[in-house]
Amino acid sequence: ENVLLDVRNLKQYFPVKKGVLQQVVGQVKAVDGVSFRVFPGETLGLVGESGCGKTTTGRSILKLTEPTSGEIIYKGQHLEKLSPRGMRPFRREMQIIFQDPYSSLNPRMLVYDIISEPIKIHHLAEGKGVDKRVYELLDLVGLNRKHAKRYPHEFSGGQRQRIGVARALAVEPELVICDEPVSALDVSIQAQIINLLEDLQNELHLSYIFIAHDLSVVKHISDRVAVMYLGRIVEVAVSSALYAEPKHPYTQALLSAIPEPQVSGMKKQRILLQGDVPSPINPPAGCHFHTRCRFAQEVCSREVPALKDLGNGHLAACHLAK
Ligand code: SF4
Repeated sequence: ENVLLDVRNLKQYFPVKKGVLQQVVGQVKAVDGVSFRVFPGETLGLVGESGCGKTTTGRSILKLTEPTSGEIIYKGQHLEKLSPRGMRPFRREMQIIFQDPYSSLNPRMLVYDIISEPIKIHHLAEGKGVDKRVYELLDLVGLNRKHAKRYPHEFSGGQRQRIGVARALAVEPELVICDEPVSALDVSIQAQIINLLEDLQNELHLSYIFIAHDLSVVKHISDRVAVMYLGRIVEVAVSSALYAEPKHPYTQALLSAIPEPQVSGMKKQRILLQGDVPSPINPPAGCHFHTRCRFAQEVCSREVPALKDLGNGHLAACHLAK
């Protein structure tokens, strides 16, 4: 099997400090044993409520934060073992698009400089070749060369995200981690950016990890979807299977909250989750979801359910899933 990225048992723990002495009083298990794979040319949606560890997972893969433990195997290379210097070529192949197009672009830099900087750092073009490449990239994301001589604040949110995409693509990456790239944008603009990312994927054969807090956002762009809850993956499946037949009670609840046009005349039952997401400092024992699960049984607060394959690569971490 041709695997582009293989993440195994990734953990990212952060110390919790208190008081003037900044004493360590505990730890947040932001990512607690996450495993998944990304195949060439596919989009893996990574979905969950805020604080579930999806963004930390994305950042750990790129080693923007050094993972506590686990394996990150990209094209057969163990990234977790590499020094910052050794990571350099992979920093080019793996790019990230950030959530907030307002703060991720340096306001004092011209668009031209924002996009040309990575080209120069990685020696991908020289002289007039840099200009040519910048204009190509602007064209690719639906902007034009006139935009090169402007500053980020002169653009709308959607256009700024296009600039962010152009910057990420400047180094010809193979894997792009899209970290909630449309969450900060107006709903009317979201579809435009998602369509753009889809077109670019087809044209440039990119693979995406598409992080979102809402299952409806990733529905059309994802080939497979992984759902996270409190630092763990609770379900992974091919999109069509996940949306049609979610196996994990948490996924079922998330899906029931998506407004959908009525097809069969049957009214979809909204599953209301009890309470808030528990604190990641002291998550519930056993299945993290048991405090909010309508099917919870005694075993659920005792034993961590394994992420097991229910057939056709549909995995769920629930004692009751069949
Ligand atoms: Fe609910 Fe138990 Fe399944 Fe967790 S393991 S999702 S608490 S039924």
